[in-house]
Amino acid sequence: MSLKNCPKCKRLFSPKPGHFICPECEKQDEQEFQKVREYLRKNRGADINVVSEETGVSTKKILKYLREGKLEVSEGMKDLIKCEKCGVSIRNGQFCRKCSEEVSKQFSSLLAVEQIEKNGPKMHIRK
Ligand SMILES: [Zn+2]
Ligand SMILES: [Zn+2]
Repeated sequence: MSLKNCPKCKRLFSPKPGHFICPECEKQDEQEFQKVREYLRKNRGADINVVSEETGVSTKKILKYLREGKLEVSEGMKDLIKCEKCGVSIRNGQFCRKCSEEVSKQFSSLLAVEQIEKNGPKMHIRK
C-alpha cells in the first residue's frame, strides 16, 4: 500500500479505502463531531454560530456534518441548508426527499452504465 501525506497534519500514513485523513486526525474529527452532537442534544434549537463558539468546531465543519447527514438541523438552524436541486429548506443531507429520490434513481442508472463499461473490456479480453 502506498503512503500518503495526511492533508490535515502532513503526517505520512497508509490510506485505507474511503479514508482520506490519517487515523489520528480521524479520531480528532470524531471527537469534534461527538462534541457538536452532545451540545445539540443538550441545547436543542441552538444557533449554529453559538454551537460553533461553544464547541470550538468551525461552522464550516458543522455544515459539512449536516450535508453528510450526520447531524440534523435543529429549530434554531432552520433554513440553514437547502436542497441543492430545488432550494427547499431541508434538515440534513443534500437534497429534499423528493429530489433525493430522483437523484438516487439517476445515480443507480449511472452505476449501471459504469458497470457495463467496467465489464465491457474484460469480455473483449476473453474473446
Ligand atoms: Zn493527520
Ligand atoms: Zn429538492
